[in-house]
Amino acid sequence: MTVETRLFIGGEFVDAAAGGRIAVVNPHDGSELASIAEARAEDVDRAVEAAAAAFPGWSATPAMERGRLLLKLADAIEADTDGLARLESTDTGHPLRDSRALDVPRTAVTFRYFGGMADKVQGSVVPVEKGFLNYVMREPVGVVGQIVPWNFPLMFTSWKMGPALAAGNTVVLKPSELTPLSTLRVAELMRKVGFPPGVVNIVPGYGDKAGQRIAEHPGIHKVAFTGSTATGRKVVRASAGNLKRVQLELGGKGANIVFDDANIPAAVGGSAFAIFHNQGQACIAGSRLLLHDKIADEFLDRFLKLTRSIKLGDPLDAATEMGPLTSAMHRDRVVAFCKVARDEGGEVLTGGRPPERGDLARGFYVEPTVVRAKPADRVSQEEVFGPFVTVTTFRDEDEAVALANGTVYGLGGGLWTENLARAHRVARAFVSGMVWINSYKRVNPGSPFGGVRGSGYGREMGFEAMHDYTEAKSVWVNVDAKLPPFYPR
Ligand code: NDP
Repeated sequence: MTVETRLFIGGEFVDAAAGGRIAVVNPHDGSELASIAEARAEDVDRAVEAAAAAFPGWSATPAMERGRLLLKLADAIEADTDGLARLESTDTGHPLRDSRALDVPRTAVTFRYFGGMADKVQGSVVPVEKGFLNYVMREPVGVVGQIVPWNFPLMFTSWKMGPALAAGNTVVLKPSELTPLSTLRVAELMRKVGFPPGVVNIVPGYGDKAGQRIAEHPGIHKVAFTGSTATGRKVVRASAGNLKRVQLELGGKGANIVFDDANIPAAVGGSAFAIFHNQGQACIAGSRLLLHDKIADEFLDRFLKLTRSIKLGDPLDAATEMGPLTSAMHRDRVVAFCKVARDEGGEVLTGGRPPERGDLARGFYVEPTVVRAKPADRVSQEEVFGPFVTVTTFRDEDEAVALANGTVYGLGGGLWTENLARAHRVARAFVSGMVWINSYKRVNPGSPFGGVRGSGYGREMGFEAMHDYTEAKSVWVNVDAKLPPFYPR
């Protein structure tokens, strides 16, 4: 498949003003996949101009028509499933079986969900005092900036653009420079299905240049960011200039609690998916396994066996269950966490290094890793963002809850138990935006997604996301009120 490598501004693919290029690398073998145009501040400015010019027309377009275009886009993505899945797998390292079965369908479904929702956002009439009519309209925010990371580039494009466009905003979106290709492909499809020029603008570039400009731009009125907590703070600071609205979907350190009354085989499989899917590069990954004393040995025995059997390999091979990490730098960072663990007295039970297989030597692979660690250790507190799970034991429910809530994060967590009352009690006690009971990492476009505390604020998906892309305008009408003379003369 040939893929666009230029910026998408005002409905056209264009070169970057300064002519800079960035090499996009295949994580399977380190080869160069493409060289893309590098957006800098002046390109972001051009994109914001295009989005601002498109805003009056797009926001006035009947909501049903905006929805129709999103539905057409969802169909076009589905029709391109094979091409998009291969592109995403080659660029990110996701196994093709996952890109085909999860990333592409979830992207289409999310655009379709918000396409259907475009004309369902309604205002309200407030029962106010006699003689007045007060109604509230929901209006789009304006030009919105969206900053997307490298872990699920295609899917996050739909999570961000779906609600923004359905609500009538225009968009300037920056994919990570590591994984921009599927987003540029979506831009091509948007042009094909008839989105007007300027409604969406795509500006791949480095975070400290293009990303920073989006966060501070006076013409952008909301910024939605997914990425690390440290960068989230920078975005908040940069946004202060024009007091733009900010939505932050940041890191996590998901606790995954297995109680002594859990269905152990189900918990073992679910916990492996919780951490190892997408090589652990997920904000909601279940990266801290908390095991009840009584079942810890049995659970760990089965879990280690399963972990060691996971098939690493070329993402394009249908048999591959785990691909490479997305960049060499990130692989080195993940491997370095094993030394951090050992230095604090932790024990690497399996994995913790690149595989020895010669055919994977040039890629950015790391063996799935299980580490025994104490709750206060750095590896139990910091987001590793790789196939790296810590194991800690607990004695009772109170201790499990205290451990689960014992980090700065509050994104998602899971628990495995056959006791119904305990399941709901512990779900309530989690300080987090999401909880999974006897499952993990379920997402759906109708279900709000996001975190609390160090994991950010605001929600993606569902009515909450649509709402967050609108402003309330309250209109007062004097229908037949006889106003007293305020200044009698
Ligand atoms: P970052 O937070 O640095 O990057 C996320 C996005 O923000 C990228 O598009 C990045 O661009 C951009 N960005 C970087 N600096 C700025 C800035 N000053 N202003 C605006 N945008 C900026 O994450 P990393 O990619 O460096 O990953 C580091 C760690 O972050 C991971 O190991 C993980 O812990 C966490 N993370 C969490 C994610 C999540 O889903 N919650 C997703 C990705 C990372 P660029 O690519 O050029 O840096």
